[in-house]
Amino acid sequence: MNDEVDVLIVGAGFGGMYMLHKVRELGLSAQVFEAGDGVGGTWYWNRYPGARCDVESLEYSYSFDAELQQEWKWSERYTSQPEILEYANHVADRFDLRRDIEFSTRVEHTHWNEATNRWGVSTDTGRTCSAQFVVMATGCLSSANVPDFPGIDDFAGEVYHTGRWPHEGVDFAGKRVGVIGTGSSGIQSIPVIAEQCADLTVFQRTPNYSIPAHNGSIDSQYEAEVKADYAEFRDENRQMNGGFGARSGFHDEPSIGYAEEERRARFEQQWQRGGFAFMRAFNDLMIDDTSNATARAFVRDKIAAVVDDPETAALLTPVPTQVIGCKRICLDTYYFETYNHDHVHLVDVSTAPIETFTPTGLRTGGVEYDFDCVVLATGFDAMTGTLTRIDIRGVDDEALTDAWSAGPVNYLGLQVPGFPNLFTITGPGSPSVLTNMIVAIEHHVEWISDCIEHLAATGLSTISAAPDAAATWVDHVNDVADMTLMPTCNSWYLGANIPGKTRVFMPLIGFPPYAEKCTEVAQAGYEGFILA
Ligand code: FAD
Ligand code: NAP
Repeated sequence: MNDEVDVLIVGAGFGGMYMLHKVRELGLSAQVFEAGDGVGGTWYWNRYPGARCDVESLEYSYSFDAELQQEWKWSERYTSQPEILEYANHVADRFDLRRDIEFSTRVEHTHWNEATNRWGVSTDTGRTCSAQFVVMATGCLSSANVPDFPGIDDFAGEVYHTGRWPHEGVDFAGKRVGVIGTGSSGIQSIPVIAEQCADLTVFQRTPNYSIPAHNGSIDSQYEAEVKADYAEFRDENRQMNGGFGARSGFHDEPSIGYAEEERRARFEQQWQRGGFAFMRAFNDLMIDDTSNATARAFVRDKIAAVVDDPETAALLTPVPTQVIGCKRICLDTYYFETYNHDHVHLVDVSTAPIETFTPTGLRTGGVEYDFDCVVLATGFDAMTGTLTRIDIRGVDDEALTDAWSAGPVNYLGLQVPGFPNLFTITGPGSPSVLTNMIVAIEHHVEWISDCIEHLAATGLSTISAAPDAAATWVDHVNDVADMTLMPTCNSWYLGANIPGKTRVFMPLIGFPPYAEKCTEVAQAGYEGFILA
């Protein structure tokens, strides 16, 4: 137990684990508090059937240790949650991380002490700790969104949220199951739950575009090619807008000028590759609505070709104006095909919302549905929700919730003005959720550790984002988003999934220019930060 440390890290997902490793490399002391009873973060909590990554495993993994990436073998192209969790545990063991992690410990208060220039941290277990630096590795998608459905406590069956899945698993055999939500978690879990249960009803508010993952065993020849020069592979990916997919057939040309037939052939080729490769068919799909419309028309046709019942197909198909890629694209394995089974039903709740849970199920549109269990695939209070659930207070006892009352203000997604020495890993204002997040995490961890090293080397004790730099940065993040089609729908990137949440586009689009900017800032003596 460390009561006084140089660096206090909150969270032991991929962000917190690597941060701990880097802090130790600096020769500094560290303490990690983690609410769960194991490492892995997202992959510790999201154990729902069908959970797997949607960035290929050879990319969705740490790059910081050459031996680790050579030795670890993924079994599938898009590996399943249990294997990713096994990987996280392997990393924890390999780098002896557990001795500085206190599990089952949730940080509740984090207060800046201006007299000592240190943070005081306290937890739900009564632990207190003082630290010069605090790193919030709390995750962008780690606070479940459980909608305030009336009567939910009166329901006699079981209710599960995908992001808080029971460790012992759920036995769906012979059961009548309801699933609410058709985002990535719903689309991954629905086909698997359908295989296991007696009867499944899906409640859909907004249909989503989904692309087949074409998952399967890892291609050993491709794996060998990647591993032959893994560093080069990682570098190529870091040059991509989202930090991944460099070898997935990216076509760096606009779709304009392509004849309809050629364009469709190109889409088909990328469709067959599977996953996000589809959106790399042309380079203007997210900036030109006409171009985007050709992509979405292609996907609409695919849905119509797969789903047997025309009425169900129509319900599953996004409206023609719904931009593909505006909400995060889903990757699936037989999602649309699942609706061809007689025991799978689709209920549209876009016009008649779920009115109430009842003791035996739920009611919508005046119709009662009876279930043994209901799965909430209703997402997360993304990017800010986990941070604002902690009582974080900076200079003059200012609460983070007040500082962010009009939306998150965060310079480079790394620091909030008025909260010295507190860093956010993949915070709002950084590319984070629009990237392969392990690329974004590694970048932030390395930047933060370089920054701490710089302060130590120059005899400085605090660093704090300058208010004007942060305000300009927030405008920049929104200006970049406004150049694209990303703000055109009610996505969680905008906070639109949480009633009452301020709508502002939170992640920054474009990893490579962002990484360059962070390097320039550091080289210019941490321009935009106040060092003291
Ligand atoms: P997390 O993994 O969320 O870890 C944060 C940790 O902080 C959690 O363990 C949490 O318990 C802990 N914590 C939070 N608050 C406190 C507190 N107050 N006190 C103590 N501990 C606290 N990204 C991709 O790039 N590719 C993918 O394929 C992909 N798939 C995903 C699938 C799912 C189902 C979900 C939900 C997300 C997915 N993501 C994916 C995003 C994923 O969140 C990141 O890739 C990555 O795992 C985040 O790591 P992290 O360490 O930043 O946060
Ligand atoms: P999500 O994308 O926010 O989807 C939530 C779903 O629940 C949406 O369909 C939403 O409808 C619906 N919903 C929410 N509240 C509702 C209500 N009151 N009534 C009816 N429906 C309601 O959440 P998610 O699927 O958990 O995914 C979140 C993110 O996590 C993803 O975008 C992705 O970044 C990550 N993730 C990745 C993977 C992967 O493939 N590797 C898997 C899971 C998650 P509306 O659309 O109408 O709001």
